[in-house]
Amino acid sequence: MKSIVTGGAGFIGSHLVERLLADGDDVVVLDDFSTGRADNLAAVAGHERLRVVEGSILDRDLVTELVAGSDRVFHLAAAVGVKLIVDHPLQGLRTNIHGSENVLDACVAAGAKLLLVSTSEIYGKNTADALHETADRVLGSPLVARWTYAAAKGIDEAFAHAYFKEYGLRVAIARPFNTVGPRQTGRYGMVVPNLVGQAVRGEPLTVYGDGVQSRCFSFVGDVVPAMVALIEHEEAYGEAFNLGGEREISIAELAELVIDITGSDSRITYVPYDEAYGEGYEDMRRRVPDNTRAKAAVGFAPVTPLEAVVRLVAEDVRVRAAADEAAADD
Ligand code: UDP
Repeated sequence: MKSIVTGGAGFIGSHLVERLLADGDDVVVLDDFSTGRADNLAAVAGHERLRVVEGSILDRDLVTELVAGSDRVFHLAAAVGVKLIVDHPLQGLRTNIHGSENVLDACVAAGAKLLLVSTSEIYGKNTADALHETADRVLGSPLVARWTYAAAKGIDEAFAHAYFKEYGLRVAIARPFNTVGPRQTGRYGMVVPNLVGQAVRGEPLTVYGDGVQSRCFSFVGDVVPAMVALIEHEEAYGEAFNLGGEREISIAELAELVIDITGSDSRITYVPYDEAYGEGYEDMRRRVPDNTRAKAAVGFAPVTPLEAVVRLVAEDVRVRAAADEAAADD
């Protein structure tokens, strides 16, 4: 099997690449290394069945050339991270809409299967107890930069569905909910690596807003197998699948848990949203998945406890900090 992974040097992408290589695939990574990092692929660097191409999904010719002759494409390349989207909404819109269109067209031309990795963010401000895939999207104004990510990803999904209907493209859509694990960076706002990094360095943990807002974190090691299964599942084509964690936790509770697990002396500091993201920021109060569909279709098993995930992230943060220090000493 020849697989392409766009965004393969990113956090989720690199875990997926390792899994595909272990399965025996020939893997091509297409990544522009804007947020992806070469060291995310350190464990498989130089692998004989891995080819890493530095380039953008906005380069239509390159995307078409790479996808030609491949069996399947995992499309993860995107401008991600609330901070990046708020600061650079145009980059987010262009990459996430035009880039995805290039990937969709290339898959039609090549007859390749596609997994379009979308996001739970598309549900917007819907605070339902359990968001089913058919739930309404409750989006804020398109003039609020935060919602441009959800708007772009929603268009991607609509495109994917239209390509399925009109061209018969074998495309499944995954909607991960706050996926976390080793290699995720806190640089673009993601809360788990951010808080763990602060705890390990002995800095105050920054909880934005009142800390009552909640999320259901999913472990990358639980999400990746479901992605691999979805792309091969006939009945998944033209459909979307939530991939979320089962435990709802407030951000204030998460900060306590991080302090507890890392044994840090840090305290928690509450930062107003305006200070964290700039004026007019709107957060999601909660985001809770209904995972029934992915469980029934491909046996999705979100089983790894958050405590175990935080432990793994802390270890990763410490190892990376030590490596950075060693590099600085050289
Ligand atoms: N958050 C926080 N402190 C941080 C980073 C994020 O309190 O250092 C909050 C953020 O405002 C949001 C939640 O944690 O309420 C999850 O943020 P993240 O950016 O990880 O994901 P998303 O907002 O996309 O769910």
